[in-house]
Order: sequence, then C-alpha cells, then structure tokens
Amino acid sequence: MSQAIKPLVPKTDVVLMGAGIMSATLGIILKELNPDITIQIIERLDVAGTESSDAWNNAGTGHSAFCELNYTPQKADGSIDISKALKIAEQFEVSREFWSYLVEKKYVGNPADFISAVPHLSFVWGNNNVGFLRKRYDLLRTSPLFSDMSYSEDKTQISTWAPLVMHGRDESQPVAATKMDAGTDVNFGALTRSMIRCLEKMKGVTVHYNVEALDLDPDGKGGWDVFTRNLLNEEKDKCNTKFVFIGAGGATLHLLKRAEIKERKGYGGFPVSGLWLKCLNEKIIQQHDAKVYGKATVGAPPMSVPHIDTRMIDGKKELLFGPFAGFSTKFLKNGSLMDLPKSIKFDNLLPMVFAGIKNVPLTKYLISQLKLTHEDRVAALREYVPNAQSKDWQLLEAGQRVQVIKKDKKEGGILEFGTEVVVSEDGTVAALLGASPGASTAVAAMLGILPKCFVKQSKSEVWQQKLKEMTPSFGVALSKDEHLLKETRQRTAKILGLGKN
Ligand SMILES: Cc1cc2nc3c(=O)[nH]c(=O)nc-3n(C[C@H](O)[C@H](O)[C@H](O)COP(=O)(O)OP(=O)(O)OC[C@H]3O[C@@H](n4cnc5c(N)ncnc54)[C@H](O)[C@@H]3O)c2cc1C
Repeated sequence: MSQAIKPLVPKTDVVLMGAGIMSATLGIILKELNPDITIQIIERLDVAGTESSDAWNNAGTGHSAFCELNYTPQKADGSIDISKALKIAEQFEVSREFWSYLVEKKYVGNPADFISAVPHLSFVWGNNNVGFLRKRYDLLRTSPLFSDMSYSEDKTQISTWAPLVMHGRDESQPVAATKMDAGTDVNFGALTRSMIRCLEKMKGVTVHYNVEALDLDPDGKGGWDVFTRNLLNEEKDKCNTKFVFIGAGGATLHLLKRAEIKERKGYGGFPVSGLWLKCLNEKIIQQHDAKVYGKATVGAPPMSVPHIDTRMIDGKKELLFGPFAGFSTKFLKNGSLMDLPKSIKFDNLLPMVFAGIKNVPLTKYLISQLKLTHEDRVAALREYVPNAQSKDWQLLEAGQRVQVIKKDKKEGGILEFGTEVVVSEDGTVAALLGASPGASTAVAAMLGILPKCFVKQSKSEVWQQKLKEMTPSFGVALSKDEHLLKETRQRTAKILGLGKN
C-alpha cells in the first residue's frame, strides 16, 4: 500500500527515525505517558515494519529463553549460567503485558493477527548434549519462570511433542527434549503496522513514508535539526526536535555516527544475513506444531542456532527451518552494498580489525555457509527432519542483522550479539544497535530509555502510575515473585488469546 507524501512538521517534541517495532513501541509508550507530546516518524520505505520486523525477515520467536540454548551458556568448568535466560524470560513477560494493554485499549485489533501459542522445544542428540540439556532443565525449573517446563529422553514421548523431528531418526541415537507450552510465535511485522496505524490516528503524531533521515545536527538550543530526503521526488527537508530516537534497524549505526555526540565513538557493525528453508508441502506443515531449537554448530554466531519452526503468518500456518547465515555488505535488506565500507571510520577502524582477528571461527563459519548448495542445506535440515525431501523446501531470504562491534579496553574491539541502547549524555538522542533478543524485548528496551532521556518526567507520579498500568511487572524480578508471575501470565494469556499459556 503506497502512502501519500506529507510535508514534515517543522517542529515536534520527538522524531523517531524508522518505523520498525522499536520506534512503534517507543512512540506509543511516550504518547500514553504524555498525550500532549508531538511525534514525527520518518520511514524510508512506503510501509512500516517491513525490514527486520517483518514476519518473513525474522524467526517470530517470542524469545523467552524457553528453547534457545544460547541463552544458557556452558562455562569452561561445565557449569551452566542461567542468568541471561531469567532476564530474557522476565523481559518477554513485560512485552506480553504491554501488548495486552494495547489490545485492551483497542489500539491494536485481534491479537491472533500477531501472536499465537506455539510450544517451545529444545531438542538435542548425543550423550554430551543430552547431559547438557538435563542439567539446564534441572537449573531452570527451580525458577517459577520455567517451572512448567517438561523434560524427556523418551523417544515415544518426544515423538508426540514433535513427530516430524523423530520420524525416521536413527533409533540408536540418544536424544532429549524440553517443552514449554507457554511459548509463542509473534508476527512482529503485523504488530508494528498495527501500532503505527494506531499512532497515525493520534493527535500530534505524523508518519512520513518514503522519507529518509540523512543527518542530525545540534540546533544550539539543546535540541536537534533533522535532515531528510524525500525518496519519491528527491526533495530535501529539515525539521527540529527536542529528542531523537534512531530506530533505523541496521541503518542505525550510520545515523548514530552522524549525531555529534561523544557516545557514538568506537562503534562499528558487522552484517550477517539470514536465509530460511520454507516448506512448500502442506501435509508436512500440518504435521508440526512447535518451535524446536537445537544447538549451534561450532563457530556459528549464537543467533544462527538452527530451528524448525511453526509460524503463523497472515492467518496461515507455515514451516521454516534455519537460519542459514549469508553475507552481504548491506545493513538493511533494502540497503546498499556500500553500507559496510561506508561505516568504517577512523574511530572504529581498530575495534573492527581487533574484532575481526578475534572472530576467525565466525569468519570460517560464514565462508562455509556461503558455499552451501540447496542439497547441503537440506542435509542440515535432515538433522532435524530426517525424512525431509529437497523438493518440498524453498530458499527464502530473511532480514539483515548488524552485530555491534565496540571498543574494548582489554581486547581492542569486541563483536557483540546482543542489543545495545546508546544514549547521549544529555539524553536528547538514543539509538538502538544490534538485534538479539530483538523484537521480543522491544518493550523492556524502550522502557529502559525513559529514565535516561526523560529523567524528570520518569520520576513523576503520573508517569510511574501509567507505567505500572501498561506493564505491571516492569522492574520486578518475576523470577522471585511467583504470585505476580502467575497472575500476569494468566491475565495476558487470556487477553492475547493464548489459551492456558
Ligand atoms: C534472521 C533474523 C531472525 C530474527 N529472529 C527473531 C526472533 O525470532 N525473535 C525476535 O524477537 N527477534 C528476532 N530478530 C530480531 C528482530 O527482527 C529485530 O530485533 C527487530 O525487528 C528490530 O526492529 P527495529 O525496529 O530496530 O528495526 P527494523 O524493523 O529493521 O526497522 C527499522 C526501520 O527503519 C527504516 N530506516 C532505515 N534507515 C532509515 C533512514 N535513514 N530513514 C528513515 N527510515 C529508515 C527501515 O526501513 C525500517 O523500516 C531476528 C532478526 C533476523 C534478521
């Protein structure tokens, strides 16, 4: 759907660069906290939520660490660290609360259009991996967040959880699986578009499609002049604002580098593209009803953990396997091949070189991934779906993830796989870098910006009360508050139509 060109508003309180899940979330939060606030959203494409946030461009996993083994890393001494899993699980509950608030307020329509109950399974084979999963399960289930998790090494039991994964499997192979029924599949693209539509109807908000943010300069009065180009007629324009959020996905790094703030220094980015195998056979799609995550291959980045996923996209059940890694120098799927070379600056050159040297296994992994043929990819799929036939699967391009590289005193430069919010000292600019756990934790990430950028208002009684209304558990360790966890899960499951989950 093409959008009409709207002239920029000369001055607003807030400019959100990019109309992905992050900007959409921050926009609604700010508008709820202060209904008088004026916001301008600048989006280079003609539709919101069609870059990384789009359903086909990400895995749609409501990341809650129920199945993702990379959130519970095993240390050199064999012990397993579950702290990240607890944090992510808590953050996802906050997202569920916020989305429930949106549904109750009728800001978004039918929740089934963006969220579905899909069990989350971890599945491993081989004695070492089975031992790891059992240990992980024993640790996790002590937390109320994971107390509903089931564990099995019994092949018949696992066959009932994931028949496609067990059918045709070597009988002698030791296997184990965990299952969480509270897992979800989320269509972040549909959710983003609903939220942006809601914002568009709010007083004091304008959304400008086909407009690219080019630069931002301090206006000398504590605010920012934002420079843009209309991509339909090439006209340049400018507007003024008190606060800028750079939510441009992979392109955030470019814009952050243009903001004259000292915090921009030392950041670089490394793009990793994703590819799926999409199932074309309706009979097979119907045989699977889970998100089944396995263990990453040695050298693979944590977000490249293979998984075979039931997806609900635009009312249709789908089945995707991946992601396989690809390499492109673009920072956005709809970006330019010059994105990576252009991002290399004097201040991030050394961190990027050091990060490159330290990540040789990743480079090797990416090269090996690039060499894969369709048959090689189907062979990888057969580790999860032993009876997979290559004719039933088609290659599909996913989104781009720009991993954060940053200066590090000890290492010179490090490559990170998480999400990082960079905020200027005076709180007038915030930027979101990285993409993992990503969209699932957008609400916690955006709420985290408030005390840094809206310092006084955040402490006010009015904001505090509204924040509690939108996200009752924000700031509470749900892993330690079993009662609140139970209450919030039951309530949000009901509102979001997730059954007993
Ligand atoms: C393969 C893959 C799998 C993933 N799986 C999951 C998952 O299972 N669960 C999960 O929670 N997350 C997942 N993620 C991460 C998740 O998709 C991202 O964290 C999230 O979508 C990022 O949202 P965003 O709003 O920051 O960026 P985006 O959705 O990319 O939005 C940025 C917007 O900014 C616009 N833009 C860019 N430059 C400019 C400019 N100069 N001016 C104006 N507009 C601009 C873009 O067009 C775009 O619309 C995955 C990502 C990938 C790539």
